Amino acid sequence: MARISRISTLLSFPLLASVVPRTLALEVQQPLGWPGSLDVPSAVECISKISELDIFTPSTSGYNWASQPFNFRIATSPAVVVIPKLVQQIQDVVKCAASAKVNVTAKSGGHSYGAYGLAGDVVIDMMHINNLTLNGTGAAVVQTGNRLGSVAQGIFNNGNRRALPHGSCPYVGSGGHTLYGGFGYYGRIGGLMVDAVVGVELVLANGSLVTANSTLNQDLFWAVRGGGPSFGIVTAWTFQTVLAPSKTVNYNITFPNRLSISELVDSYIAWEKFAKTNASQALAMATLFVPVRGNNSTVDMSFVGNYYGNEADFRNEISKFNETLPPTARAKAQLKSSGELGWIEGLIVLAGNDGTLNVTKPPPS
Ligand SMILES: Cc1cc2nc3c(=O)[nH]c(=O)nc-3n(C[C@H](O)[C@H](O)[C@H](O)COP(=O)(O)OP(=O)(O)OC[C@H]3O[C@@H](n4cnc5c(N)ncnc54)[C@H](O)[C@@H]3O)c2cc1C
Repeated sequence: MARISRISTLLSFPLLASVVPRTLALEVQQPLGWPGSLDVPSAVECISKISELDIFTPSTSGYNWASQPFNFRIATSPAVVVIPKLVQQIQDVVKCAASAKVNVTAKSGGHSYGAYGLAGDVVIDMMHINNLTLNGTGAAVVQTGNRLGSVAQGIFNNGNRRALPHGSCPYVGSGGHTLYGGFGYYGRIGGLMVDAVVGVELVLANGSLVTANSTLNQDLFWAVRGGGPSFGIVTAWTFQTVLAPSKTVNYNITFPNRLSISELVDSYIAWEKFAKTNASQALAMATLFVPVRGNNSTVDMSFVGNYYGNEADFRNEISKFNETLPPTARAKAQLKSSGELGWIEGLIVLAGNDGTLNVTKPPPS
């Protein structure tokens, strides 16, 4: 138990920072630090001695690239960013940081809105820790440098049409995404990405590499699924994959003839009621609100989503939803659908339809 609380102290602020507003996170960050001194220079010196490790400090070229957040509104200035190629290097970096009582954060895809992957004095960028293997029972071992697009494509290709429930943006990291849940259109059937985790490999604050699953280190296995960054650097997840649905239909319902505010509100309420009562699990539907340029008094609303099944069943389900809309809104509704797609084609459409599961876009913004 002593070990867990020590780990928690070292690595806990990223967890809190990810679930509370940033201002509050900054307020609570101080008391959670190590008692005693934070000797950043000695941590950096120790790290600089690790062989064949890519290291970026404010005085080296490439630091701006390595420390750049996805969200340009946030300023980040870690003392050092390292990009390991081996798990052993991660263990060595953590040991250096722990002996100097310095905070460490891992960065997987870097898509934290709050740039929490760059919040430590020492940042470990997992981009090259990106192996992916599948066994015959559909269990996939996915190192956390893999982004969602690589995970989806990798398990589908290597595992004979295997799939996982996850978000629709292929460039989001499997590290942070899984740690905090990982929510996507397939979630109504498959749950969250974290629900598919059956094992985890992680580096603890003392530099040891441990496995946690339903029989080994059970308390850690429980804690890491939701509180991961407080307990260690996750190097690999083991996911139980499922057989991908053979057909999906992507669709949207727009209102080109704009809804009045009362039609919009009533349609939104109809959507909520439908979701709670009538909707088939195979029908995933999100509501989008887009501000209307030059008109502060209204917004455009649309319903977008995926159906996991064939076109005929989709038409049947979507017509049930249409029936619930207020009649005047129903008259304005325009349905567009993709027709039947395969699993990967469906993910590509959800990702923005540039023809691939691109893991490099979008650039920081
Ligand atoms: C454009 C965009 C689209 C998104 N779409 C979705 C979506 O469809 N569904 C959804 O649920 N969410 C979505 N998100 C949110 C996203 O899932 C979270 O922000 C997630 O935490 C990002 O993971 P990451 O690895 O890319 O981020 P990072 O910035 O690398 O990490 C995020 C947090 O996790 C920690 N962390 C990362 N890797 C590790 C590791 N290996 N070990 C320990 N700690 C680690 C970091 O320290 C940090 O606290 C989206 C975000 C963006 C920017």
